[in-house]
Amino acid sequence: MLRARLLTFVATCAAASVLSTGLAGAADPLGLTLDGGAGEAFGVGTDTIAVWLCEIPGTSDPKDFTVEEVATWANTDIAPFFSLISKGRYSTVFEAAGTFTRQADCLDEALDLTTDPRFTNTFVIDNTDIGGGLGGSGAWYLINGEIVPVGPASPPSISSRGFYVRGGMFDLPATAAHEVGHTLSWPHSGSSSTGLGQYDNVGDLMSGHGIDNFCPVSESASRGPCKITHTVAFNRYTSGWIDADDIPLITKPTPSIDLVGPEAEGLQFALIPSPEPLVFTTVEARPPTGYDADAGVSGVMLHTVDETASCSSTICWGLNRRQYPAVGAPGSTDHILAVGESAVVSGVTVTVEAATADGFTVSFAGAPLGCAMGPNPFSDVSAASFAFNDIGCIRLLGLTTGTSPTSYSPLATVTREQMAAFLARLYRALGHTCSTDPTPFTDIAGSFAEADIACIYALGVTTGVSPLRYDPEGVVTREQMAAFLGRLWADALGGACNGAFPPFTDTGDSFAQVEIACIYARELTTGTSPTTYSPAEAVTREQMAAFLARFWKAA
Ligand SMILES: [Zn+2]
Repeated sequence: MLRARLLTFVATCAAASVLSTGLAGAADPLGLTLDGGAGEAFGVGTDTIAVWLCEIPGTSDPKDFTVEEVATWANTDIAPFFSLISKGRYSTVFEAAGTFTRQADCLDEALDLTTDPRFTNTFVIDNTDIGGGLGGSGAWYLINGEIVPVGPASPPSISSRGFYVRGGMFDLPATAAHEVGHTLSWPHSGSSSTGLGQYDNVGDLMSGHGIDNFCPVSESASRGPCKITHTVAFNRYTSGWIDADDIPLITKPTPSIDLVGPEAEGLQFALIPSPEPLVFTTVEARPPTGYDADAGVSGVMLHTVDETASCSSTICWGLNRRQYPAVGAPGSTDHILAVGESAVVSGVTVTVEAATADGFTVSFAGAPLGCAMGPNPFSDVSAASFAFNDIGCIRLLGLTTGTSPTSYSPLATVTREQMAAFLARLYRALGHTCSTDPTPFTDIAGSFAEADIACIYALGVTTGVSPLRYDPEGVVTREQMAAFLGRLWADALGGACNGAFPPFTDTGDSFAQVEIACIYARELTTGTSPTTYSPAEAVTREQMAAFLARFWKAA
């Protein structure tokens, strides 16, 4: 008899480990994933799943369910879970496809049979009375930074995307839901990177979640988990169900953030960066409600996400993504904090202050993290550049996504529309809300930064180059930059922006003398030399990054 366990498989996702830095894509502007958010290719939309019954010859006491009954069960007990936690962005539709007799391998044969392009996923169940399952997202991660999502574009006979659940798990949906998770490229999240402890995290459907306790008493523990519980927030993010805008980045002491559980609307997790690129901690609320009502564990969960180290394919799924409890002993619940409990990660003390209707109020204290630790994926920014950390910082803050996923163009000059975008994003990142009132400018319609120009106009940061013109494509000079930053400082933080006269010998004729003194006093600039500011020179994008990052840190 097979030892019951949750098997995994990876079809052809080798070599993904050549990707070493996060790619900031449209779906993942923060660059939190190695693939620029390509996981959304599976996680958004309708996943039409072919359901097959694989009859194994010679099975003693075979299960007598039909493939139609399996599809109905899956649509009743599994589909609602994914619709709920994706907030309607992802839905599974199970369709009975047929019954066949096993020749050699149920999953391989089911995949081969699923040639109809209407299908994007495959579910095969056998007629045994034993437990276990396996699943994978198939052949879609390719190498050299090129993401080719074969899966959603092709039927499973080509993509190899699918999962297999043993017949003993019929009517016990957790295993099948877990395997659907693998077809979304969700990894296990247990304590070990070797595979031994991959099922010991009780906080995750994709790991242990109290295996024995979830089955009815009448069911053998060897059947594996029975009830669906929630999966960790970062999986939901990679599938495109949580927007980057809704992730508070903890870069400073933060007295109070309300996080909500997977079934509620609101902030679902906060992110604490670490000094190492592509390593961070997620802080998520898991109230004892809904699918977590019987989990026996609730609180604020801390998980480390580490995309730097290669690891077992059965854990990482070709993603190079390790995900595991951030604190505590292996197999423990130490990473799940109850009200009043604290833990320290990356020098930040996380405390659960109170329970709320939908989750928990969490505070973050300790040494400020600053923001010089964001991952920096841009191949055209040298680590020796004075602005290397600053560019990483403003990317982490969402102020830039680069000029492409892998380039920042550090020496390019900054146009006035780009500057408006940088400043408006900074203003929002500081927690403010931009005005949406129209401007009088007649030359900004169609600019990508039209709303951002309106934002800084309403703030009085700009008055345009004339009453009716903003000159969006004009180049920003360093003295203009000082004026913009000084005005934004006064608006965003209150109070006058001025300072002692700086040591520059070339700013005496500048219209922005006061603001240059202001930004010098606040260490937003050190000049182009100890005695020069070069007010008439154009601002480069790397200088812009430095201005913005220093502004953020000084604010
Ligand atoms: Zn698994």
